[in-house]
Amino acid sequence: MRRVYNFSAGPAVLPVPVLERARDEMLDYRGCGMSVMEMSHRSKDYMAIIANAEALLRELMGIGEDYAVLFLQGGATLQFSMIPMNLIHDPATQTADYIMTGSWSEKAYAEAKKIFADVRQAASSKGVNYSRIPRQEELTLNPGAAYVHMTSNNTIFGTEYHHVPETGAVPLVADASSNILSRPVDVSRFGLIYAGAQKNLGPSGVTVVIVRKDLMGRNANMPVMLDYQAQAKEGSMLNTPPTYAIYILGLVLEWVKEQGGVAEMERRNIVKADKLYAAIDGSPFYACPTEPASRSRMNVPFTLARPELTDAFLAGAKAAGLVTLKGHRSVGGMRASIYNAMPEAGVDALIAFMREFERSNG
Ligand code: PMP
Repeated sequence: MRRVYNFSAGPAVLPVPVLERARDEMLDYRGCGMSVMEMSHRSKDYMAIIANAEALLRELMGIGEDYAVLFLQGGATLQFSMIPMNLIHDPATQTADYIMTGSWSEKAYAEAKKIFADVRQAASSKGVNYSRIPRQEELTLNPGAAYVHMTSNNTIFGTEYHHVPETGAVPLVADASSNILSRPVDVSRFGLIYAGAQKNLGPSGVTVVIVRKDLMGRNANMPVMLDYQAQAKEGSMLNTPPTYAIYILGLVLEWVKEQGGVAEMERRNIVKADKLYAAIDGSPFYACPTEPASRSRMNVPFTLARPELTDAFLAGAKAAGLVTLKGHRSVGGMRASIYNAMPEAGVDALIAFMREFERSNG
């Protein structure tokens, strides 16, 4: 068996101890005589798995009792619709503000527009190809908005908020799909945080929604699967939840806790990102398109001074066991996603390959 360093933006690398544990428990989960995949979601054993996942997430993120934690399906993308459906109760008079920082903000905005017409853009960095995060003073916020939506890490463009925007009494909603659990966050500053699991939390198939309880239940006659209140009331078991994905998510959370929690994740992520950006900035052969103050610790895009060598770079990297480094088509070049589970040794191996590639082609 040969494990590669997988720089995929998602689904992404998982901690090896988590995969080993899942392997060991595959046929017989802790004496149950069956796999978690084969268990009734209403069984005592499974109820303990989902309760443990929720308790760990609450502990790791410091989520108060005034928030519900939901494990839903449909990906972060379904949240683009569920958020306006749940948080807006009068589409005729209410509006929401969206801070535009990339393709995922655009998609969230486009879905909201289908639910109610008057959605505003509070700021946008589209004019600079989303290479930076708008600063607080650039936001034109509507104090009467139902919520403000932000994308806390922009997976494609490689930018990240290093501050929490100030929105006064208006609830802040964050798509944290690609940086949840990568750094400590004061959850009480947010009305809602959501994330598809397939980057820092586990496999695809489950989406975490952390929602302040007073924001739920504002609309009657909601399709029940799309209603936060109904989902919370049933403990995310309105129907069969993605049982195996939630189990793996729980194992990932246990791993994060064993490693020292979110603060330790942040410490490691800073080390990894600083090294990689320094290697890019330190060479005229490589370039990073993002503004230094807005750079993501999770997704690092970079290009070559000689773009015609991009395919050779990717092929050479792959031969060296460094895979899924191709950049998104809207940015080009390369993108290294270095989530929590990417070990520092993976980043070191990438930097060593970059130096070697430059030496032989520079
Ligand atoms: N938001 C962000 C920031 C993402 O990176 C992604 C997926 N890469 C999505 C939303 C969409 O997530 P999903 O595929 O779970 O719908």
